[in-house]
Amino acid sequence: MVVPVKGTEKRMIRWITAVLWLCLSSLTWAVDLKALRSSVTQDSSRVVLELTGPAQLNYFNLDNPKRLVVDVSNLRHASVQSLSVLDDSRINRIRTSVRESGSRLVFDLSGDYRTNVFALAAEGAYPHRIVIDVVGYIAGEAAPIRAPETRPPEPLVQKRDIVVAIDPGHGGRDPGATGYGVVEKEIVLQISKRIARRFQNEAGYRAVLTREGDQFIKLTDRPKKAREAGADFFVSIHADSFPKNRSVRGFGVFALSLRGANSELSRWLQNTENADDLAGGVDLGNVDDATRQVLLNMSMESAIRISKQAGEGLLSDLSRVGRVHKKELGLANFVVLRSPDIPSLLIETGFISNRADAQRLANPKEQEKIAAAIVLGITRYFERNPPANTFVAWRKQNAGSRIVVEVKRGDSLSEIAARYGLSVKALRELNGLKSDVIRVGQKLEVPVAPR
Ligand SMILES: [Zn+2]
Repeated sequence: MVVPVKGTEKRMIRWITAVLWLCLSSLTWAVDLKALRSSVTQDSSRVVLELTGPAQLNYFNLDNPKRLVVDVSNLRHASVQSLSVLDDSRINRIRTSVRESGSRLVFDLSGDYRTNVFALAAEGAYPHRIVIDVVGYIAGEAAPIRAPETRPPEPLVQKRDIVVAIDPGHGGRDPGATGYGVVEKEIVLQISKRIARRFQNEAGYRAVLTREGDQFIKLTDRPKKAREAGADFFVSIHADSFPKNRSVRGFGVFALSLRGANSELSRWLQNTENADDLAGGVDLGNVDDATRQVLLNMSMESAIRISKQAGEGLLSDLSRVGRVHKKELGLANFVVLRSPDIPSLLIETGFISNRADAQRLANPKEQEKIAAAIVLGITRYFERNPPANTFVAWRKQNAGSRIVVEVKRGDSLSEIAARYGLSVKALRELNGLKSDVIRVGQKLEVPVAPR
């Protein structure tokens, strides 16, 4: 029989190829673990694996129980075999196993945390690294509110505002949808300005508009403007039209779908101008192209995750002020939502093709209600997940405590009150002031109230 011989030969060749490939790959790529560092804060846990060379990295999350799986296809298993327990309430333990190539590290998590994994190239005294961040309050423990007597509150020094970019759809030669005497570009600008005004009155937030008048702006320029303004969030305001069925009405909220996102990301990366632009927004540091791609991918995924979380909350806030057309968050591939680094939502405030909706959208009172619901949805999201170094993060951490503020030249009572999100009256009463007059060097007690 010839066949078995042939089969054996085939197997031999396959086997030799595999061995050769393994040898070659281990010769050129294999890396070892040099050291493991870990740190824990109230908000997150970080594990840093220091390696002898650049890592080939892939990771994903699993549920029931919550796990983070990190595959490093060129990490020699012998060097990670002894990894096991960390003194960390978020990571119960690290298990390791040999993979066909490299090693698999499984982080058993104690709860539903956000995870971030990225590789960093060697730089200065630092070797090649894999950084694993596990973010979120420790399961079973309430979000921390520091008692003033246990730890002095952290003073408010240079905490930035959260920047929300508001994008009124259409404009100029593009009127958008029209019906019943209502023009989309006009009413979305009115609603957007109301949203912006509300954000201006929120301590710790700042709003920027992509257009303030009736001008035409290219779709791709809109997220660009948001990025230039350093936006933490982008929300595009529109109204729908469906003349075929004029009974269709209500709100709709859309985030970018991951499906569109992946192709969008590769298109983005092909354009170096975009990648450089984006690098400014995400702080990629000194990384090689492969790592850059991993980081950008991660930042887009996280932007989409944030968009979805915020969008779902927003939808429920909008449902309190009017009918919702689509009960679930829509996932779509709108051009304005394709920002890999900024969480973005598109809100359809109603259907201009529906008479009741058109009237509602043109009514200043109703516009104000819509604006209030949108601001509530976005601020609610950020109060739960404030970006680092923002006033909102500071306020959340120090809520319930009192701090002492020394009056500086140029300060006014109303300005100090606004800075800390208080009313002038409350600040005056607390400090026993008879008038709004304050002097330089005077010390004022200021309570840090949650929003
Ligand atoms: Zn529109």
